[in-house]
Amino acid sequence: MNPVALITGGSRGIGAGIARELAVLGWDLVLNYARNETAVRATAADCAAAARRTGSNLRVAICQADISLAADRQRLVDFARGQFGRLDLLVNNAGVAPEVRSDLLDAGEASFDRLMAINAKGPFFLTQLVARWMIEQVKQNASSSPASPADERADRQHYRPKIVTISSISADTASVNRGDYCVSKAALAMLTPLFAARLAGHGINVYEIRPGIVATDMTAAVAEKYDALIAGGLTPLRRWGVPADVGKAVAAIAQGWLPFSTGEVIHVDGGFHLRTL
Ligand code: NAP
Repeated sequence: MNPVALITGGSRGIGAGIARELAVLGWDLVLNYARNETAVRATAADCAAAARRTGSNLRVAICQADISLAADRQRLVDFARGQFGRLDLLVNNAGVAPEVRSDLLDAGEASFDRLMAINAKGPFFLTQLVARWMIEQVKQNASSSPASPADERADRQHYRPKIVTISSISADTASVNRGDYCVSKAALAMLTPLFAARLAGHGINVYEIRPGIVATDMTAAVAEKYDALIAGGLTPLRRWGVPADVGKAVAAIAQGWLPFSTGEVIHVDGGFHLRTL
């Protein structure tokens, strides 16, 4: 039986990059999306093709749900349960940027509320729902033990679920033209230490991946600005990130290669976070 991952915002960009990396490793997938059915179908087909190339046989199930809505979150978890009966990995990836970037002194409440609902509240309560289900599965799985060997094969044999949240460098970088986004990502960054502490006793490891500038639809509108900043040395590794960069970090976690780390922040930002002199 393949392990199963639920990826929110799995239709495009970073979520699609994560899906492709997990597909190559033979994971079954639940791809969530909000509106873009064409994109999610294309990503599902890509994943199936990538898996076929490596000889894996995987199932991809698609579920529309707005993660800011309680009823949709419950429906998403019920869907995953109905399709696969198990969940090994939750990837909280879905997120939005402000529709309009506004100076901090002009920022409005509607955009703030939207970003907090999608970027912070949605993942918090989805993680709560999933965590309850994972604890149930840990209890049912008599062979699961937090002390089991830490290699990849053992991880597949034992039920060792994990939770990964995709935050942003905006969690601790001040951008005064999108303070609402920064606040939502800073709030999201607290999710990982909280759930890591609460779930450690159940053998459920929890991680944050903090991406830098990644080429997706989200950054397309400001591509020229970031081209110039990257060329000018903003990031020690002088290139844009790509969705696969984040996908590979998630894949390492999924495979169980960080067994003695929980609550960890993994920077996938080309070294942006380094302080240099
Ligand atoms: P993107 O290309 O704009 O894709 C956003 C994804 O989130 C889409 O799959 C979208 O679904 C989904 N989504 C949006 N609102 C949703 C909702 N209410 N419920 C469920 N799904 C929803 O963005 P991205 O660049 O891949 O970003 C993915 C994550 O990485 C976000 O959390 C973002 O903040 C974070 N991040 C991005 C960057 C970057 O430079 N790109 C850097 C740091 C962090 P539809 O396709 O159906 O619209």
